[in-house]
Amino acid sequence: MSKPDVLKILQDAGLDVLTCIQCGTCSGSCPSGRYTSLNTRRIVRKAHKGGDILHDDKLWMCATCYNCQERCPRGIKIVDAILVIRTIAVHEGIMLPEHRDVSRLVLEYGHAVPINNATMEMREGLGLGSFPETVHKYPDALEDVKTLLRSCEFDKLVQE
Ligand code: SF4
Ligand code: SF4
Repeated sequence: MSKPDVLKILQDAGLDVLTCIQCGTCSGSCPSGRYTSLNTRRIVRKAHKGGDILHDDKLWMCATCYNCQERCPRGIKIVDAILVIRTIAVHEGIMLPEHRDVSRLVLEYGHAVPINNATMEMREGLGLGSFPETVHKYPDALEDVKTLLRSCEFDKLVQE
């Protein structure tokens, strides 16, 4: 299978990263970069230089807070580009094990974080119902959620 042309896909989506001047404003604005090895400027550089960005673990360290995108002096849609690159990666079968695990929970329970007794007790203590307004409260809807996930082939993306 041929390697996807990340830069072209970004350009076709109206997400041109070629105007980046490597000023570093994005990295300096990045709360995730303060605690992880994420360097947003380097991610943008890799996207336009054609490096193997799809296998770069830092791609998944962005918390999509949009700080960088709001501040980029070139108006580059950095986060939108990161999300597109992540989508390409997932379609290439590249996903962190943790994301695969969480996705399997969504497929099975309709929730990335299924409710547990501790959370139910906490909700009750706050005067909320035991269950949120989701498939936990309406279990009959779980089959509908699964049908939706299958119809967009999410199950195939998640399987290894
Ligand atoms: S803030 Fe914009 S122009 Fe500056 S390095 Fe980041 S992406 Fe490039
Ligand atoms: S959107 Fe992502 S890359 Fe941009 S500042 Fe926030 S965490 Fe950093």
